[in-house]
Amino acid sequence: MYTTWLLIDFIHVFIMKKLLILGAGTGGTIMANKMRKELSRDEWKITVVDQEKIHFYQPGFLFIPFGYYKRGDVTKPKQNFLPVGVDSVYMKIAKIDHDNNKVVLENGEVLGYDILIIATGTRIIPEETPGLKGELWYKNIFDFYTIEGTEALARFFKTWEGGNLVVNVADNPIKCPVAPLEFSFYADAFFTERGMRDKVKISYVTPLSGAFTKPRSSKLLGSLLEDKNIEMITDFFLGEVDNKNKVIRDFGGREVPFDCLITIPLHSGDPVILESGLGDEFGFAKADKFTLQSVIKDNIFVIGDAGNFPTSKAGSVVHFQADILTENLLCHIEGRPFTGKFDGHSNCYIETGHGKGALIDFNYDTEPLPGYFPFPGLGPFSLLKESRLNHYGKLLFRWIYWHILLKGKEMPIETHMTMAGKKTD
Ligand SMILES: Cc1cc2nc3c(=O)[nH]c(=O)nc-3n(C[C@H](O)[C@H](O)[C@H](O)COP(=O)(O)OP(=O)(O)OC[C@H]3O[C@@H](n4cnc5c(N)ncnc54)[C@H](O)[C@@H]3O)c2cc1C
Repeated sequence: MYTTWLLIDFIHVFIMKKLLILGAGTGGTIMANKMRKELSRDEWKITVVDQEKIHFYQPGFLFIPFGYYKRGDVTKPKQNFLPVGVDSVYMKIAKIDHDNNKVVLENGEVLGYDILIIATGTRIIPEETPGLKGELWYKNIFDFYTIEGTEALARFFKTWEGGNLVVNVADNPIKCPVAPLEFSFYADAFFTERGMRDKVKISYVTPLSGAFTKPRSSKLLGSLLEDKNIEMITDFFLGEVDNKNKVIRDFGGREVPFDCLITIPLHSGDPVILESGLGDEFGFAKADKFTLQSVIKDNIFVIGDAGNFPTSKAGSVVHFQADILTENLLCHIEGRPFTGKFDGHSNCYIETGHGKGALIDFNYDTEPLPGYFPFPGLGPFSLLKESRLNHYGKLLFRWIYWHILLKGKEMPIETHMTMAGKKTD
């Protein structure tokens, strides 16, 4: 009798369909929660794979160098956010064999799938710029996009006596394109509060022709840089870092001297995406920007920073995409045409220092506009304008992230960008 049950159990597991999610960061975790609610446990097995057991709340990395957050404020075990009924495997993904619907892990284990979600995010690749990871790395050159970098910078700032502070974006795309600006604003406030702003010259060095990609927000953010006496150097594409002379040099030979360099290095997708033939030349998975389906294979879908979507690489984008992806996965499973259409919606709080912040809300077609969010005329948040409430919105976001967003719960924000509350003139 017992062996019969075991046999039935074995056959059941064997014939169950498999949803495999690569990456248990923001997107992978939200999708695991949403899909577990949607798919029958008798029919679908859901597995998530990640190389790390710790979840990092990456927006919190901004606050660590200035002593406002510590490691414990931005880290929690990934397992805390995965629902019952989702299997987790903590191992590096070595290969995606999409011809045979299989993923191979670093330890040789093979996981099959019926549907695959790629949520492997993006990573910084400082080693790709000559000199960036030279002798001054983590001595006078820091990133704040990794826990190691942001903690090393926090230690450095404790005793730094001032000089040229250069914030440099090597090239786009990067995660959270406003984070380097926020860092510059925060640095201004931090050194002012420490009574040493006159000893620190802050320069913002960007490959863009202005402070941001979109004209109206570029104007607002550019004038904030000016008000805070932060020099802006534009059209600068980082070619190399000269450790001996402490200068960064662009491809045309222009130089900017630094005593402390805050680098936002080049970004790429995970190498596994490139090697599997699913990505573009930067390793970002090629997917339809509206349906989120891979353009290479029908049973592969992409979410978040891992994709080559022409919108910001941001947690808010991942959150909106998750609603669309859930809808489209159900369409795919039930053999219906896709009904979900992602509009590129992105929504970012921008810390501007001294207890204030701004907020931008935009999509593929509409640039950030002034107005109120989320309720027309009421806000409480103001768009494209500094306010104290916007700053509190950013601080509150960490709680929302851990308790609502990652668990795939509903938020009172429209998935698609709405024009309600926005001023067009
Ligand atoms: C400094 C900073 C500030 C930010 N501020 C904001 C903000 O204010 N607002 C906002 O909306 N967004 C912000 N972001 C961006 C936001 O954090 C990311 O866009 C979001 O987390 C992306 O989610 P994701 O699921 O695509 O990738 P991630 O959350 O990065 O997850 C990817 C996962 O895949 C795993 N993985 C990758 N490759 C492999 C492999 N080969 N094998 C196994 N596992 C693998 C990784 O370990 C990781 O857990 C910020 C980011 C940074 C760095």
